[in-house]
Amino acid sequence: MKKNIAIIFGGKSGEHEVSLSSASSIYNHIDKEKYNVYTIGITKEGNWLYYEGSCENIKNGKWVELANKDAKINLIPTQGEKIGISLSNGVFHEIDIIFPVLHGPYGEDGSIQGLFEISNIPYVGCGVLSSSVGMDKIICKKIFKEMGLSQVKFEYVTRYEFVKNVQDSINNIERNINYPMFVKPANLGSSVGISKAKNKDELILAINEALRYDYRVIIEEGINAREIEVSVLGNEDVSASIVGEIIPAKEFYDYEAKYINASSKLLIPAPIDDDIIKKVQDMAIKAFKGIDGCGLARVDFFIDKDTTEIYINEINTMPGFTNISMYPKLWEASGIEYKDLIDKLITLAVEKFEQKK
Ligand code: ADP
Ligand code: MG
Ligand code: MG
Repeated sequence: MKKNIAIIFGGKSGEHEVSLSSASSIYNHIDKEKYNVYTIGITKEGNWLYYEGSCENIKNGKWVELANKDAKINLIPTQGEKIGISLSNGVFHEIDIIFPVLHGPYGEDGSIQGLFEISNIPYVGCGVLSSSVGMDKIICKKIFKEMGLSQVKFEYVTRYEFVKNVQDSINNIERNINYPMFVKPANLGSSVGISKAKNKDELILAINEALRYDYRVIIEEGINAREIEVSVLGNEDVSASIVGEIIPAKEFYDYEAKYINASSKLLIPAPIDDDIIKKVQDMAIKAFKGIDGCGLARVDFFIDKDTTEIYINEINTMPGFTNISMYPKLWEASGIEYKDLIDKLITLAVEKFEQKK
């Protein structure tokens, strides 16, 4: 029997557009012989809309206008009602599995995963805990530290503390970390709100900039790094892909270098020694298991160009997922095609759901 899958895309986060690209690509490639696919978009304001139509209109944003505004999306279990989409003409599409293709806050941070838990429905990717830990750069770094995974030096500050005493906050950071520093909102992705600070004035500006996106900010020691990424896949039995490298088109891999300026390069496989590859893969699996990940994640590393030291940077529990994104590209190079990867993730979602029962 064909399973009914709902792809959920868009969302309130700064990574809305990235999600549209990932979702339209998944919609395009998912095995339609095996699955009936329904698409639900979340507008930038946070409204959920059922959309039936082409993937081009998901990508270009026209789906908002074209959505079926009368359809009701039922995710909260109520007496006698199933999880699904009811149309005004009386048709009801029951949903068996959800594929949330959402990046950043509200989509990748455990909040929507909590809703799916309440709905009691299988969903692709990490659960509540691993999603929220993966999204929060401060908490995640504390856990990595406890696990003995090596990472750059960091400090953090809340808006309340920073505004109360700017000088104290700066002194504390400068005492522990050397310039240049990278300043980031604790909960975001796609480099939104991130800046590099080379001196005190830039540091204050950078913290204020990051505070526009979150009330907690992390400050890291900046290193002269090669950027290495590895994809992991699995629930209990986790595999790591071939390792890739990013050559950013700019001074660092900011939003523009990621999505606008096409001259950033992905090298697959990364031209690095076998022993480093092995270390990075082991660290990626360890990090994924350490946050209780399931399904998928892309784990990102820095290799210090001067010392060749390996540092874990972050774990992304719903990485960019267009057919040319790093996550699926690394699996493709490791022998799993895009279409089969989607299928595998759906199977893992169902297995996880059964296991939790
Ligand atoms: P995001 O979750 O938004 O991708 P990252 O922590 O990966 O945030 O930072 C985005 C980019 O900023 C990285 O890919 C890298 O280019 C640069 N960067 C971040 N932290 C550091 C650091 N400590 N040293 C050097 N470069 C960094
Ligand atoms: Mg990230
Ligand atoms: Mg990153």
